[in-house]
Amino acid sequence: MNFQEILAQQKEFFASQKTKNLKFRKRQLEKLKEVLTKNEELLYDAIDKDFGKSRFDTFTTEISFVLNDIDYYLKNLNTLAKPKRVSTNLANLPGSSKIYQEPLGNTLVIGAWNYPYQLSLSPMVAAISAGNTCILKPSEIAENTMKVMAKIINENFPAEYIFVAEGGVEEITEILKMKFDKIFFTGSPKVGRIVYEAAAKNLTPVTLELGGKSPAIVTLNANIEVAAKRIVWGKFLNAGQTCVAPDYILVDERIKDTLIDSLKSNINKFGYKPDSQEYTRIINDRNFDRLVQFIDREKVFFGGNFDREKRYIEPTIMHNVTWNDAVMQEEIFGPILPVLTYKNFNEALQTVSEHEKPLAAYLFSTNSDEKKSFTEKISFGGGCINDVVMHLSNDHLPFGGVGNSGIGSYHGKTGFDTFSHQKSVLEKANWGEPYFKYPPYSEKKLRWIKKVI
Ligand code: NAD
Repeated sequence: MNFQEILAQQKEFFASQKTKNLKFRKRQLEKLKEVLTKNEELLYDAIDKDFGKSRFDTFTTEISFVLNDIDYYLKNLNTLAKPKRVSTNLANLPGSSKIYQEPLGNTLVIGAWNYPYQLSLSPMVAAISAGNTCILKPSEIAENTMKVMAKIINENFPAEYIFVAEGGVEEITEILKMKFDKIFFTGSPKVGRIVYEAAAKNLTPVTLELGGKSPAIVTLNANIEVAAKRIVWGKFLNAGQTCVAPDYILVDERIKDTLIDSLKSNINKFGYKPDSQEYTRIINDRNFDRLVQFIDREKVFFGGNFDREKRYIEPTIMHNVTWNDAVMQEEIFGPILPVLTYKNFNEALQTVSEHEKPLAAYLFSTNSDEKKSFTEKISFGGGCINDVVMHLSNDHLPFGGVGNSGIGSYHGKTGFDTFSHQKSVLEKANWGEPYFKYPPYSEKKLRWIKKVI
C-alpha cells in the first residue's frame, strides 16, 4: 500500500472543500453508522478471536461507544460547527468578532490494542465530524479487529476521505514521516514520545492519550462494600487491560483487611473463570509473560493462578505491597491488583503526587474535606469519586491525561474542538476611524490611546 499516494489523494480531497459541508459530514456519519451496524457480527467475532471477549462486554465497551459518538455528533454538529459570536473590545468598535471552527485538514489517528475498535474509531468519528480527512492506523496487536476495521471502512469509503492503514511498527514509522495537520495517538508514554518527536519535525499538533499507574484511594470514610464491588468490576473488566483501570489500591491501614475480604468475595461472585463469558484473555504471550512475573507468591492474598495456553490469569490481589515491588515499577495493564496501605489521608495524597501524574485517580469516601483535597491537591487526567472508569462514559467530560499520561483530550464537544482550529475573525465597519491610531503621533494622541486601551 502506498501511503504517500493515499495522503496525496486526501490532501486533494480536503482542498476540494467537500468535507467542510455539514450535510456531507452528516451523510458520512450516517453511512458509517449503517455499515458498522451491518457488519456488527464481524466485529464481535474479531474481538472474540483477539481477546476471547463476550458479546456483552464487546457491546458495552466497544460498539456502543462508537455508535454513541456518531449519534452525538449527528445531533450536535450544527451547534458545534456554528461560528461563535464573542464581544468586541472598545478599541475595535464599531466591529464584530467571531470564532470559526475550521477543520485542521488531513489527520492521522493511531490506535491502541486494548479496546481496538473504539480507541481507533471514536477519534476518527470526531475527526470527520470536525470536517477532516483521516488515515487510521489501528494496533496490529489486535490483528483480527484491525483487519475487520480495514475491510469495513476501505470497502465502503473512498481512500481519499478515510482509510484504514494496516501494519505494525514498520508501516507506522513510514506514515509518521509524512506531513499531517493533526496526529491523534493512543498508546504508551514510550511510543507517545516517538510520535511527538516525529510530529515536531512538521510542527504538527498532537493529542497523546497515554497511560500510567492510576490509584484508587479508599479512606476510613468509604462505603467499603460499594468500593470493593466497583473496584473489582473496573479492575477486571477486559482482564485489567484498560487504560483507566485502577492500577493499585491505597487504603487506610485500619480497614485494609475488611476491604480485601470484600474484594475477594466480589471476585468470587462475578465468576471470572478460565472459560467464562465474563472474563477476557490476555492479548498475547508477551504481555502474559510480562504480567506473571509481577505475581509474588508471598504477597498473594487471592488468586495468583494462570494458564499460559489459554492466556488466562486469575484475578489476583496482592497485599503488603511496597513501591519496591516489581508490580509497582510500571503500569500493570492486567488482572493483578496490588494493595498498599497508608496511615493518614494526606500521606496517601503525597504518595500519588510523588509519582508520575496518572491518567485516572479514584477516591472512595463520603467525607467532603477528603473529596475537596482529592480534587484540588493531586494532579491526574480525570477520575471519579465513589466509582472507577465510568467518567469516560460521560460525553460532557473531556477525556485525556496530564503530564506523563497525555496531552490534550477528546469525547463529545472536546473531541470536535481537538480536531478543529479556532479561527478568530474581527470584522470592522468602514466608518468610525479613531484619528489617534495613525501617525504622526503626539502626546495628546498618547493620552487618548491610554484611555482606550
Ligand atoms: P503502544 O504504545 O505499544 O502502541 C500504540 C500504537 O503505537 C499501536 O498502533 C502501535 O502500532 C504503534 N506503535 C508501536 N511502536 C511504535 C513505534 N516505534 N513508532 C510508532 N508507532 C508505534 O501501546 P499499546 O500497547 O497498544 O497500549 C497500551 C498503552 O496504551 C498503555 O500504556 C495504556 O495505558 C495506554 N492506553 C491509553 C489510553 C487512553 O485513552 N489514554 C487508552 C488505551 C491504552
